[in-house]
Amino acid sequence: MAASLSGDRSETVFSDYKGEYTREQALVEANRCLYCTDAPCVKACPTHIEIPQFIRKIATGNLRGSARTIFDANILGMSCARVCPVEVLCVGDCVYNEMGVPPIQIGKLQRFSTDAAFENEWRFFEAGQDTGKTVGLVGAGPASLACAHELRRFGHRATIYEKRARIGGLNTTGVAPYKMKADRSLEETQWILGIGGIEVKTGVTIGGGVTLEDLEKKHDAVFFGAGLGADTAMKVPGEDLKNVFGAVEWIEQMKTGRVSVEGMKSCVVVGGGNTALDCVREARGLGIERVTMAYRGTEAKMSGYAHEWKAAEMHGARAEWQVLPVAFEGHGHRGEAAEQAKVERVRLVRLDANKKPIPGSELVLEADLVLVAIGQSKLGEMLSKLDGIRIERGRVVTDDDGKTGRAKWFAGGDCRNGGKEVVNAAAEGKAAARAIHAFLGSK
Ligand SMILES: Cc1cc2nc3c(=O)[nH]c(=O)nc-3n(C[C@H](O)[C@H](O)[C@H](O)COP(=O)(O)OP(=O)(O)OC[C@H]3O[C@@H](n4cnc5c(N)ncnc54)[C@H](O)[C@@H]3O)c2cc1C
Ligand code: SF4
Repeated sequence: MAASLSGDRSETVFSDYKGEYTREQALVEANRCLYCTDAPCVKACPTHIEIPQFIRKIATGNLRGSARTIFDANILGMSCARVCPVEVLCVGDCVYNEMGVPPIQIGKLQRFSTDAAFENEWRFFEAGQDTGKTVGLVGAGPASLACAHELRRFGHRATIYEKRARIGGLNTTGVAPYKMKADRSLEETQWILGIGGIEVKTGVTIGGGVTLEDLEKKHDAVFFGAGLGADTAMKVPGEDLKNVFGAVEWIEQMKTGRVSVEGMKSCVVVGGGNTALDCVREARGLGIERVTMAYRGTEAKMSGYAHEWKAAEMHGARAEWQVLPVAFEGHGHRGEAAEQAKVERVRLVRLDANKKPIPGSELVLEADLVLVAIGQSKLGEMLSKLDGIRIERGRVVTDDDGKTGRAKWFAGGDCRNGGKEVVNAAAEGKAAARAIHAFLGSK
């Protein structure tokens, strides 16, 4: 049984940044939709939810039907309504953008509909007739959950192996609390498991006590949905100082337990991707006054979404562009109890347009907390010892449906795509389930 969460987690101080629609607001927005044929918003959604259809159902008062349309395409439709970067997906492609009219707020409408399904405990799907086949799934993140649910609809039994105590993957441990809190993600996992016949074994690390070969022997097929690995380190002096953290490690602590920010006045976040942008807002939201993002590139070329950086700026964050940390300085080390054991500043150099250090350009930023958000390791190498499975730059190589070059083995989500969004993991997990079903049928 997955571990529960305490009520005094650090993440609970955050409020919901987009808010929910009232019934009247949802009706007004739904009635603005043009119900386009060949709708660009549908094409922009990796799970291809029939967006005009679900919106029309809201407009006509068929809320239950609307939720079914969403979940039929994407069983993680509730979390995706909250965490999807809709600005660069469905909403970004709504035809209204070209007319200079505000686009339809598809995410908020999807949330209105899927929240109603959760509140009313509507259930839409039943497991198919038992086929007697079993599938092992590595990891209990969005990719494996979507895959397992779809496998159950086909009647195959599923066993998910998760190394952590809690399930949901980064939906539970990573996404920013102003989008979705960990308890809501856990609620979603239970809703998905409600189809029955999905066994979840938490605290089991594949490649540890249970080997890849064990899985292959035990199951008729295996889905690898292990996501990404640990935070990448800067490898600069002082990285082991107290209060210098890998971003994903710190976020997990903040979401599932407590992080200490008492007395902290300044924070430096290293990186310029979406995780760095989340950290900046999270540190501000926890009450740290001066939060600076230190990024080696320019604002124009940052890998994080421009709309997220705008929001971070609005929340009081600042940035140093084209800089590189060369040392974290302070006293003491992580784990030491000494009163003064902490990081105090970050020493950086400025970079030129070719990302080369500019001699004599050093600058120093005060920092009571440093969060290093420069990426996560790839886990694909774990599979490289299995003949037939190809790994490229740490990613598992598959065909479009998630089939690897080795019989029985399928993969999807971050471990395959290198790290995208929850909606991509959901789409890839579902596609893989269909490919697994075809494989099991042909055996
Ligand atoms: C900080 C952060 C914020 C994000 N915010 C957003 C957002 O706002 N919106 C969005 O759409 N996406 C966001 N993402 C991306 C999104 O969370 C991922 O794309 C998605 O969760 C990938 O799903 P997955 O199932 O492939 O992997 P994961 O969610 O990483 O799940 C993999 C699971 O496998 C388990 N596992 C790993 N190795 C093993 C093993 N050997 N044995 C057993 N279990 C194992 C892990 O513990 C984990 O539970 C964010 C990512 C991060 C890091
Ligand atoms: S593109 Fe916009 S207006 Fe057209 S169906 Fe999609 S949400 Fe509605």
